[in-house]
Amino acid sequence: KNITIAIDGFSSTGKSTVAKQIAKHLGYVYVDSGAMYRAVTFYAMQHGFINNNHFDVEGLVASLKAITISFKFNKDVGFAEVYLNGTNIENDIRTLEVSSFVSKVAEISEVRQKLVEQQQQLGKNGGVVMDGRDIGTVVFPDAELKLFMTASAETRAERRYAELIERGETVTYEAVLKNVQERDYTDSNREDSPLTKAKDAIQIDNSNMSLQEQFNNILQLAKR
Ligand code: C5P
Repeated sequence: KNITIAIDGFSSTGKSTVAKQIAKHLGYVYVDSGAMYRAVTFYAMQHGFINNNHFDVEGLVASLKAITISFKFNKDVGFAEVYLNGTNIENDIRTLEVSSFVSKVAEISEVRQKLVEQQQQLGKNGGVVMDGRDIGTVVFPDAELKLFMTASAETRAERRYAELIERGETVTYEAVLKNVQERDYTDSNREDSPLTKAKDAIQIDNSNMSLQEQFNNILQLAKR
């Protein structure tokens, strides 16, 4: 039977890396829900709704209808990449700049409503692994398997820092750690669908776990 696997947790806990592997192994669809919030953020930056000291929430909300997000499988990378109004933005949305605004965009109820609806559509037939912050609590409250991933903020910042450096971004570890901590706070304290562990989610602290260990662990759980 094709089940639904919901993976939630704090920023940079390595959710997407293991989620992609599990989806590939089971022949499931992987959906990166964070990429959708990042896509809306990128749109807002492109269209001047976000500037360093100004955030035009009403303007963005009024433009939501003009935002179409889609995913297209890229066999060279082995997962579905995200598109904004037909343009591949997979790389544009991973910058520290987008990361620094995305939690503010994710606080907007109208944004969440639009994206949650699309996420539910994408997963309506099961056979899906979706990662995010509210997948087990809001998007798929009936998911057969729910995981909640944690790791220390320092471990997560180190991972994200290494990733950004590899992408060629000029960042400091301190700036990355600050971003991770700020997103933890904003995501956990917003009014609409704050990040919290679903009652029936299994918590995995992967601070000292290899990717292989996490993969084996989750696969066991998925087969039960
Ligand atoms: O997973 P990722 O780090 O790419 O997510 C970026 C941001 O998008 C999160 O920090 C959070 O603010 C928001 N998000 C969310 N709900 C989700 C997925 C992501 O609010 N389901």
